[in-house]
Amino acid sequence: MGDGERTGDGSSDESVPPDEPVPPADAFEVLGHEIRLATIEALAEERRESWIPRGLRFSELRSAVGVRDTGKFNYHLDKLRGSFVNQFGEEYVLTNAGFELAGALRAGTFDQTDTRVERRTALDRTCPICEATLEAVYEHGYLRVLCPEHDRILTTTLPPAAVRGREMATVVDLANARTRDQVERVRAGGCPHCWGRSTVRAPAEPSEAYLRALSARGEGEPEDCDVEYDSEDDAVLAECACEDCGMTFWLPVSVCVAHHPAVVAYYHDNGVEMDGDYLDMEHATGSNGTVVSEAPVRIEVEVLVGDADEALVLTLDEETTVVGTETAPAGSR
Ligand SMILES: [Zn+2]
Ligand SMILES: [Zn+2]
Repeated sequence: MGDGERTGDGSSDESVPPDEPVPPADAFEVLGHEIRLATIEALAEERRESWIPRGLRFSELRSAVGVRDTGKFNYHLDKLRGSFVNQFGEEYVLTNAGFELAGALRAGTFDQTDTRVERRTALDRTCPICEATLEAVYEHGYLRVLCPEHDRILTTTLPPAAVRGREMATVVDLANARTRDQVERVRAGGCPHCWGRSTVRAPAEPSEAYLRALSARGEGEPEDCDVEYDSEDDAVLAECACEDCGMTFWLPVSVCVAHHPAVVAYYHDNGVEMDGDYLDMEHATGSNGTVVSEAPVRIEVEVLVGDADEALVLTLDEETTVVGTETAPAGSR
């Protein structure tokens, strides 16, 4: 803010009326010009310096973008006002929408030439279920960790910048972190896609389309895919659904509780430091969970580390909230 007078609410300078907010369709329409994208990036640099909304004066901004013609620059800057840029006093400040856009542009989210980059590497780690060597594949913006026996162990979307210049092992760590973020958000009631109101309900059966997508290996014909869901043998699933945008997906209930304090403590007591990594947790990738009561819903999830004498048993309700924990001799469940 520089002189300490201008504040983020635009109330400091009476002489300049606040920028009129612009509806989304109009906001997207103004983006189709290099000068405007460069202006957003120049203002994003100001905000990035300390992660606070700080702007630039007209002449500073114009020279940062590198446009000599004042009238021409003013014309393009004006188009961004009310959507991606707001004027506060003499300063032009990037809005949160502009800042998010700048981040997505840097991440390569909109660059389809970049997401075509394919990377494929055998990881220095084994499948938590069968000990086969895992392979990490990045293509079309998806990061997948594959076991030759168990298909996909982990799938998430990542923008190109998460992969560029990094070892695949590090990319897998980022994929884990992103998955954990999304699981925590949906369990807190926020849709990972739109931030709308989400619910989590278990046990649930996945849709056939979802199963088909999950079991498709990218090789062979779609009809080869095993699209049966067996509620006896397969992992007990929780349905995560957004009331606002309609996005629906299914998670093993064991994944929902993978970072519960009792689970972290159990792993710690058995010599494993859990770093938010689903790949090291057999209970989060194997077929796990048993419905022990339907009314009220009670689901047991057993957590067992290697050759430990005791297993941890979590009891979950229909929202996958842990309502009980106990230990049991290994192999007793
Ligand atoms: Zn496996
Ligand atoms: Zn949503």
